[in-house]
Amino acid sequence: MSEKQQKGTIGVTTENIFPVIKKFLYSDHEIFLRELVSNAVDATQKLKTLASFGEFKGELGDTNVRVSIDKDAGTLTISDHGIGMTADDVDKYINQIAFSGAEEFLEKYKDTANSIIGHFGLGFYSAFMVAKKVEIVSLSYKDGAEAVKWECDGSPAYEMGPADKSTRGTDIILYIDDENKEFLEQSRIDSLLKKYCRFLPVPVISGKVQEWKDGKYVDTDKDNVINSTEPMWTKKPADLTDEDYLKFYHELYPAQEDPLFWIHLNVDYPFTLTGVLFFPKIKNNFDINKNRIQLYCNQVYVTDSVEGVVPDFLMLLQGVIDSPDIPLNVSRSYLQSDSAVKKISSYITKKVASRLEDIFKTDRKEYESKWDDIKIFIEYGMLTDEKFCESAMNFVLVKDTENKYYTLEEYRNLISPEQTDKGGDVVYLYATDPVAQFNFIKAATNRGYSVLVMDGQLENHFIAMLEQKIEKSRFVRVDSDTVDNLIPKDNKKTVDLSETQRNILTNVFRSQVPDIKDANFVVTFEAMSPADLPVTLTQNEYMRRMKEMASMQPGMNFYGELPDSYNFIVNTENPIIIKLRDKADADLKAEIEPLENEVKEKNDQISAIRVVAKDGKLDAEQEKQSNDLQAQVDAARKKQEEIVGEYAKNQPVVGQLIDIALLGNGLLKGEQLSRFIERSVDLLK
Ligand code: ADP
Repeated sequence: MSEKQQKGTIGVTTENIFPVIKKFLYSDHEIFLRELVSNAVDATQKLKTLASFGEFKGELGDTNVRVSIDKDAGTLTISDHGIGMTADDVDKYINQIAFSGAEEFLEKYKDTANSIIGHFGLGFYSAFMVAKKVEIVSLSYKDGAEAVKWECDGSPAYEMGPADKSTRGTDIILYIDDENKEFLEQSRIDSLLKKYCRFLPVPVISGKVQEWKDGKYVDTDKDNVINSTEPMWTKKPADLTDEDYLKFYHELYPAQEDPLFWIHLNVDYPFTLTGVLFFPKIKNNFDINKNRIQLYCNQVYVTDSVEGVVPDFLMLLQGVIDSPDIPLNVSRSYLQSDSAVKKISSYITKKVASRLEDIFKTDRKEYESKWDDIKIFIEYGMLTDEKFCESAMNFVLVKDTENKYYTLEEYRNLISPEQTDKGGDVVYLYATDPVAQFNFIKAATNRGYSVLVMDGQLENHFIAMLEQKIEKSRFVRVDSDTVDNLIPKDNKKTVDLSETQRNILTNVFRSQVPDIKDANFVVTFEAMSPADLPVTLTQNEYMRRMKEMASMQPGMNFYGELPDSYNFIVNTENPIIIKLRDKADADLKAEIEPLENEVKEKNDQISAIRVVAKDGKLDAEQEKQSNDLQAQVDAARKKQEEIVGEYAKNQPVVGQLIDIALLGNGLLKGEQLSRFIERSVDLLK
């Protein structure tokens, strides 16, 4: 041992950090490479900084960082030509590790190597996750410095002494252990460098560029540079063209279509943040998991899980954020309560909102042409972020069935003259499926109403939110009622039917309504215009919304399990109905009237018994009498139903009207449909 040789134990308070590192950090042990290459890049940057201040006067020379594999020796070496370290530096920066409160911390954050590595400044020591022995050979930039070699075999004991090294900088030599032989494979190392180091500010070289020769890949003598040292987010927006953004986007996400918009982030105060966010074109249901926003810290890739840093609704975006002010080594909940992170998150929200507003104002045509694609982001944002919602109220668009786009304000101005109901609410009519609801849309537009297309995935919630935000407003699906009732006005006509007529007509229709699984039908009457359809089928707005919400939210099963409820609305002013009414009246009155009278009479008798009963309580005798009478009422009613049902069966127009209404709602299927076709042909004979 030379006299300069020094032995010692690494200054940790916990007995031995190495088993800890191996045990806890096993899951993402690949990050050792990021740590070591970042150290090398830092050392290089520091030297360049010193040179620019005139504190280093020598030749900078080659400043590339090199990662090389020696398979025979079983080593992976990371070399730089940065500031290097003297023996004192190694002692200070490597041997003395502040490592207090370690157990407690490890217990808390054992799931993420990132936390532990960063928290203790243990970057260098992460080498022991994959190496059985590590050597540092370094020559400091300082005048007259002597080269130093440090080695450690994974126990707290190290050895340090003079070394043979004549070039400035540091080599970190890892003797890869048996379980981690993968890190001696060029392809594995290259893909890791691509992942973590592709935008580092100093060239990182790994192996040689290969070429295809004589049936296989062979090394050329050109260095293989892994990274682009000036990624576009570090440049000024003014110096960039659209092509630059698109090129960068496709570099990040090769298999994606062109993005819709992008936003360049660039702040210095009160925090530092750069980056570019892209609005992707989402084709199928939220295809967001694989191409996520990447988080960098000074051009070093950290992670692609940015929850907490980026507001939830912008997680659908893609791109890069780079900030040294985001604490990387803490738990999610801590992150979310961090004040810098809160500021960053709200800055991003503001910036996105103002960029959208800007595009909307300067190039409305372009904005409208992309609206269908960006609407999901904006609606989601408005639903989840109050601040964003406030700004977005100015640039969120709605689209009508003629494919015209309006802001909320424009649309309200457009519809309020015609579509204000008698209570003063402006009624927004909408269709969720313009093809299926075509008939209803037509009825409404014929009336001079406008109908919106609301066919997105979030529409139900979005509508509920708009109803809250916009005073005196109500959204009504176009097929939820007859055109008269969609927007109730004062001058509505009343239904003009005698009691017997109503009774007969109700039974006529009710008897012929088919049994459809999970659907309930109620027959009602409306005095609409004679030109309106004789029978319309509508679906109750409230129940439908409840059911739709239930299908998206657990815990609302009750609504989900109810059958769909429909109204058969019979238009008592329509000539076909008038004819049917009069004919049924003439044909059935003689038979039905006595039964109606019987029902009335017995009901009166039941009431009379109730009146004499003490305290509303019937005695046994009264109870029996009342039950007998009720049975007679039921029988008379049943009889009426039978007579009318039998009659209706032989009136093809009834079945025809019902089927036409079902057809308009897509409910006429199978046997019922083929019967309808046969009947239609018969009616033509
Ligand atoms: P951190 O980088 O978080 O400070 P590390 O354990 O990775 O923690 O490194 C500790 C210190 O060792 C660094 O701050 C630096 O001073 C020194 N160091 C590590 N690697 C190098 C290198 N390649 N060249 C010069 N100094 C280095």
